[in-house]
Amino acid sequence: MSSTPAALAFRLLPSVDEALLAPDINAAAQGVRRELLAEFVRDVLEGWRREIKSGALDAAGVEARLAGGELARAVGERAGLERRAGVVRAINATGVVMHTGLGRAPLHPQAAAAMAAATGYCVLEVDRDSGERNERDARLSTLLRRLTGAEAGIVVNNCAAAVYLLLNACLQRGVRDEVIVSRGELVEIGGSFRVPDVMERAGVVLREVGTTNRTRIGDYAAALGERTALLMKIHTSNYRVQGFTEEVSPQELAELARSRGLLSAFDLGSGLLDLEGLAPLPDALDDEPRVRAAIASGVDVVTFSGDKLLGAPQAGFVVGKRAAIALLRKNPVYRALRLDKVALAGLEATLELYAQGRGDEVPARALLRSSADEIRPRAEALARQLAAHANLEVEVAPGQSQPGSGSAPTVFLPTFVVRVRHRSSSAAALALALRRHTPPVFARIQDGAVLLDPRTLLPGDETALAAAFAAVV
Ligand SMILES: *Cc1c(COP(=O)(O)O)cnc(C)c1O
Repeated sequence: MSSTPAALAFRLLPSVDEALLAPDINAAAQGVRRELLAEFVRDVLEGWRREIKSGALDAAGVEARLAGGELARAVGERAGLERRAGVVRAINATGVVMHTGLGRAPLHPQAAAAMAAATGYCVLEVDRDSGERNERDARLSTLLRRLTGAEAGIVVNNCAAAVYLLLNACLQRGVRDEVIVSRGELVEIGGSFRVPDVMERAGVVLREVGTTNRTRIGDYAAALGERTALLMKIHTSNYRVQGFTEEVSPQELAELARSRGLLSAFDLGSGLLDLEGLAPLPDALDDEPRVRAAIASGVDVVTFSGDKLLGAPQAGFVVGKRAAIALLRKNPVYRALRLDKVALAGLEATLELYAQGRGDEVPARALLRSSADEIRPRAEALARQLAAHANLEVEVAPGQSQPGSGSAPTVFLPTFVVRVRHRSSSAAALALALRRHTPPVFARIQDGAVLLDPRTLLPGDETALAAAFAAVV
């Protein structure tokens, strides 16, 4: 037998079967099925083997780890990761209203109830009067027409899918396959949704016009040709081109397209609904394009997300001219992108709220509208509760919340935050313990303190947040 240092170290490693007999390993991963526990043990030992191979771990190191219960600790850690995986309720104390990592727009209880009610059988693709088959988004189309002023609407999985469907539907391979877009609007949305890449996958050819900071309608006009299929405008949701800039208005784009018998489209991203009677959102959001205004500009097609500023479940809306929407509906790709019954129920319920004049109740809008004056007493009440823990240093300070989800990147909303410091552990350690709690709490870290912004706390969260602190400090 070889007796190199590595060989000595390898020989000290227990077999998986031996490890599975150890009481401390079983105790560390209670409730984990034996086969899964064996997998965890194998993974940990595999990691140690790699360390031995690379020279980072020797026999003495292995001995020390085994004696110190490191194997059981690592297996317990793996079991913990497994327990914490998956989609569970979370407390958003970040102040980022549409937090993509935390599920973007929180839904109205009525939308949640409609979604729950649709889980069994539901009226999805059948007309109750005639008993005949109909379109699953028939009701949604009606609501979309009323709310946006468009002639027709269709709904798919998300706005990325809406753009993809639009591009693919206007493609006439070998005849018209070019889409003209301004260089200043070739957006990348988080999670690598890059407009040029989506165009390529949809089968269309991107024709860039203008420069990064300035594009005029003449640039579009000069690029028109026999292969032009679509003139497109994309809202620069997550960045701003500032300074010496010029962009083409949707009106100009629609006019040029119409004069040549071509289609025009405007991808809004967020899709702020500009209905009369809705309480205004903070002025800082004035830059966000409005859905009704976009339709009124005359473009053929407008696309926007369900779960951004609209405050609905994840979805992509396409609204616009009847003929253009019919083209999308006819495209076989639509079948691959359409929504399920649960999402449809949630969308309908949210749009019904807007249609009934109750749009101000939509949580995303309500949270954005909260003023610093309204938030301050909530921050103070939370601070009083947390100050009861002797090992916490707590203070209320002015701060800034954000809309999030790539909307309005330069917009900060005044708020009051609770700044929390632990007397004996770091802000990162406190934040980690909070994220690992059930329900997990997500907060920001700034200047060595954990920051809690009451703006994004939903009903009941304050109590749960206080309980999370009581458990972890
Ligand atoms: C967010 C966004 C998208 C993608 O929307 P999803 O609903 O997340 O797919 C597309 N275009 C723009 C301009 C956006 O802001």
